[in-house]
Amino acid sequence: MSVYLDYNASAPIDDRVVDFMVDIYKNNIGNADSRTHDYGDNARVIVENARKQVALLLDIPSEDVFFTSGATESNNIAIQGLKEYAEKTGKKHIITTSIEHKAVLETAKYMSNYGYRVDMVSPDHTGRVSADEIIDLVDDDTLLVSIMHVNNETGTIQPVKEIGDGLADKDVLFHIDATQSCGKLVEEIRQIQYDMLSFSSHKMYGPQGIGALVLRRRNYKLPPVKPIMFGGQQEHGISPGTIPVALVGGLGKACEIAIEEYESDEADNILIRDMLIEMLDNSGIKYIINGDIDYLISSTLNIQIEGVSSEALMLSSKQYCGISNGSACTSSSYSPSYVLVAMGMSEDEIDQSIRLSWGRNTDVEALRKNFEKLLEVAKELV
Ligand code: PMP
Repeated sequence: MSVYLDYNASAPIDDRVVDFMVDIYKNNIGNADSRTHDYGDNARVIVENARKQVALLLDIPSEDVFFTSGATESNNIAIQGLKEYAEKTGKKHIITTSIEHKAVLETAKYMSNYGYRVDMVSPDHTGRVSADEIIDLVDDDTLLVSIMHVNNETGTIQPVKEIGDGLADKDVLFHIDATQSCGKLVEEIRQIQYDMLSFSSHKMYGPQGIGALVLRRRNYKLPPVKPIMFGGQQEHGISPGTIPVALVGGLGKACEIAIEEYESDEADNILIRDMLIEMLDNSGIKYIINGDIDYLISSTLNIQIEGVSSEALMLSSKQYCGISNGSACTSSSYSPSYVLVAMGMSEDEIDQSIRLSWGRNTDVEALRKNFEKLLEVAKELV
């Protein structure tokens, strides 16, 4: 069996979450918005408990949590949902980065087709953007600053805390895509001053197809986002449609577990990272980490192995480790990773880069054995 090393694409759902969801599917039929029977009331209790768990994890009021189908939907609402406000105020400037997930990049591109001015800040060669450069771009027309917390390809932690502090006294909305950090960098997220935050449950051991958009109230007022899809009044109309009770319950359970276990998860992830680096160091292979280790989340390494094509390595070591060479959302295209391009890497360097990502329930002994085999394959490919 190969060892799964693609947690950033989708982390395995926690068994405790599955059990909780199965119980909901079996014993809690009904629609959380039905008002005429106990079934509806019971489903509503599950949804509101889950909302509380998300709020506890993020240390925010539960009324600020809106369930969506995931980070893609949340990012779209956070950006496109501001159109009406932008038309009213004339603020049509968006600041983001060139290394965002496509759910932000493509939405920003769509907005630029409608006359919005979009500034895309590029990172330095380590994959980190400059907080000062972003804050300096803000002007009277700036509507939104949208920055990811942790990059999905490199694991680089962006200076969103500094950016939030720098924007706090400005009339600008600040959105963070916390998809790769939620449930992991728990303390840090609690300190960030943001207006909107997006995440997906399946990156933090919950089910796929559910996530949340957090809308922080300032002086009791929600950020001025409007629905981008129309239907029922679920989630205050922000994400209309029947609430998937078991998925929401699963997300809540994943948050509850994260609150209990994020510190031990972090310690385990660091041990795994140290082991992988030690094995790479001892292998005799020439490799470079794409990123600055001081700013990497503990569960991701993006590395270049000199002289080894990532495609060849992935194919010939498939039976040992399930790795990737970038985002699953763009993996159907063979064009080089736009994140690594933005870091100034050459096509050859990008061609030799692979992403390893791990987390809760990674079997360390199986990983040790299988990663050793992967390194042997890599040596043969040099
Ligand atoms: N943002 C980031 C940083 C991500 O890594 C992902 C998933 N790869 C998304 C947004 C989109 O998440 P989903 O596909 O669950 O909507």
